[in-house]
Amino acid sequence: MVELRGIHKSFGPLEVLRGIDLRVRAGEVVVVLGPSGSGKSTLLRCVNHLEKVNRGSVRIDGELIGYRRTGNRLRELKEREILRQRTHIGFVFQNFNLFPHLTALENVAEAPVAAQGRPRREVRELAAELLDRVGLADRADAYPRRLSGGQQQRVAIARALALRPKVLLFDEPTSALDPELVGEVLEVMKDLARAGTTMVVVTHEIGFAREVADTVVFMDGGVIVEQGPPDEVLDRPKHERTRSFLAKVL
Ligand code: ATP
Ligand code: MG
Repeated sequence: MVELRGIHKSFGPLEVLRGIDLRVRAGEVVVVLGPSGSGKSTLLRCVNHLEKVNRGSVRIDGELIGYRRTGNRLRELKEREILRQRTHIGFVFQNFNLFPHLTALENVAEAPVAAQGRPRREVRELAAELLDRVGLADRADAYPRRLSGGQQQRVAIARALALRPKVLLFDEPTSALDPELVGEVLEVMKDLARAGTTMVVVTHEIGFAREVADTVVFMDGGVIVEQGPPDEVLDRPKHERTRSFLAKVL
């Protein structure tokens, strides 16, 4: 379970997150919508401590992320500890971010070998299974430049799964793709959702939200304006800001 409490984040004078409270239950899919600049990416980056919050806390399965409490004080964890915590948090970016000099299989196998010290042979088997799961068993030996955007993103998803994360975060995973490649990535994400993966997905794909989300969150100006089941938030939004955003993207 992911629990965000009272998250505040500023960049200099710019207050980007202004008190975010959000709970994601195990197996739940939360889709985050909101206009450009509303703080969606920053929020995801706070979850795995790529950004340090100014106030508030992130917990995953009860464990405080990025900090430890000593008495009344919060101390930032050492880099090694933060890296260990990040192994429980999968992150899929807009631009795939694959290692160009590694094959699809090697990209997927890299983290369990590097971060967990698992034996390479065992990890190669796991990586092959994961590539199969995202429909790329036959492309295991291809380098990223030989893969389409949709294929690269599916490799990136397999890579994120390789550490068996407690939660998977997606930041606009399909928005850099040609339209005809969006569907194959969304299909993989739907499969993960059906399999009970805990996911937080920032996306403008309203159809995906409607079909897959347990909870839709609408953010604007660094706050959660409203959240609820997709039919409530998408079809009967309570707030004018949600209505006008949806009118633009639908
Ligand atoms: P988009 O839909 O365009 O991806 P977003 O909702 O993800 O937008 P963020 O990327 O979280 O928005 O950015 C929120 C605000 O914070 C923006 O005004 C952005 O310019 C600012 N911002 C984000 N990262 C930084 C940074 N590292 N330094 C300064 N300002 C930043
Ligand atoms: Mg963003």
